[in-house]
Amino acid sequence: MSDLDDTLVERPPLFRAWAERFLASVGAPADLLDWVVEQDHGGHRPRREFLAALAARTGYDVPPDVFLDSHNDALSGSYRLTEETRAALKEARAAGWSVAVVTNGPTSVQTAKIEASGLAELVDAVCISEEVGVAKPDPLIFRTAAGRAGESLDGAWMLGDNLDADIAGAQGVGARAVWVRRDYDRLGYTSGAEPDLVVTSFAEAVRAVLDTTGQRATSGSCPGPAWPGTSRPPA
Ligand SMILES: [Mg+2]
Repeated sequence: MSDLDDTLVERPPLFRAWAERFLASVGAPADLLDWVVEQDHGGHRPRREFLAALAARTGYDVPPDVFLDSHNDALSGSYRLTEETRAALKEARAAGWSVAVVTNGPTSVQTAKIEASGLAELVDAVCISEEVGVAKPDPLIFRTAAGRAGESLDGAWMLGDNLDADIAGAQGVGARAVWVRRDYDRLGYTSGAEPDLVVTSFAEAVRAVLDTTGQRATSGSCPGPAWPGTSRPPA
């Protein structure tokens, strides 16, 4: 299982590019960029509140719903996988793993990111908190993800950048967890979660899981079972 934002796709450069385009489009000074980035709080500030602050500062006068839609469309539509991430997803599946994206957020926004990035064809299942009805770290969203991928949680791994939602959440349902630690992350974590592995990129996380489970495809051996530790036979 993997988180989406800042795990599969790094958001900061995409947000910065959106902010640059927005400032130029409304004729606002480009040196407002750092202020805009600060106001965004890494995407964790409620969107309407962030956009209201931005509209007030730049004099951008459109209805809040229109601004919200255009912001979401532009930012989500810019999501792309790096070649390294794409290759890592393919390597995981070639080793016999099922991959489920487990992401918190509005269904429309997260779906647009998944479509724009081409993720849909590279994973087995997608779980978005709004459509599931609960968000990470709630156990139900992880159980739902495993079920949609046709797997059990026994032997499952979660890859994510958020210690509370991703790491503590996954460990709470018995999965192991790799923390993709981002140097731009300024969140304060409260769960006290201790990840099983710590890395700095999605591709590194996949390699770490394959190494730990003895599945790196370097020996020419056959792929192992989809979810190591289960009684399910390899496909
Ligand atoms: Mg994340």
